[in-house]
Amino acid sequence: MAFPSDYHLHTRLCHHARGEPCDLAASAVAAGLAEIGFSEHAPMIRDDWDDWHMESGKLDLYLEQIRLAQQRFPQLTIKYGLEVDYLPGHEAWIRELSERHDWDYFIGSVHYISDSFDIDNPEKLDWWRSRDPVEIWSEYLNRLSQAAASGLFQIIGHPDLCKKFGIRPTPDRTPGFREFLETARDHETAIEINTAGLHKPCREMYPAPEILRLALETGVMLTFGSDAHAPDQVGRDFDLAVSLAKSAGYRKSCRFTRGVRELIPIP
Ligand SMILES: [Zn+2]
Ligand SMILES: [Zn+2]
Repeated sequence: MAFPSDYHLHTRLCHHARGEPCDLAASAVAAGLAEIGFSEHAPMIRDDWDDWHMESGKLDLYLEQIRLAQQRFPQLTIKYGLEVDYLPGHEAWIRELSERHDWDYFIGSVHYISDSFDIDNPEKLDWWRSRDPVEIWSEYLNRLSQAAASGLFQIIGHPDLCKKFGIRPTPDRTPGFREFLETARDHETAIEINTAGLHKPCREMYPAPEILRLALETGVMLTFGSDAHAPDQVGRDFDLAVSLAKSAGYRKSCRFTRGVRELIPIP
């Protein structure tokens, strides 16, 4: 079976993943993938922001390692990307990053709902306990819409990451998601199906099936990502991701080349 491109891959440069681009590329070839893209956690506005992003001085090494993988695995198409944290006020920095290379795509992700609260960080579970989850979700959804409205990203990553620890307060969040998806459509920003959620406490891919159906109805395009943090996770659960996409009604997904989108049939 052919699989869609895996556009969400991390390497050891972010300090919490294993493998270099060559290791992940080898794994992609073994899994039968035809195209992958690297999306390392991009340098933050300051290197001491936290301990889980690539430092700014490592960007050249990152690019060099991807180039090496391209040379070693000519049978595989390999794209240059970054997973960039969206925080209001960081737009100029993100633009600066975009000028450092001829990137194929940026995945814009909301992990931070304030300068210090990264909602998916297991070390911040106490923060969840000491705050109102309804407010956390509402701030998360606000930022998701802002990230889409910024026009800085080709793809929005794991668009309901806030459910990672399985904390889903009861109020209906559909209006927030609808606003986000309409904003994404209006700015020609895709969303990804990210399979990593299956292995987190929420036990479900990002986004949830009902959000994916809403995304299709709204006219939002799609990519696929494993969010691999180790070589053996490349393309993980892509058979399930393809089933999910198709059951939501998607027949095409996006390929990005130097920021330009092309629609290709989902295998
Ligand atoms: Zn990571
Ligand atoms: Zn992420």
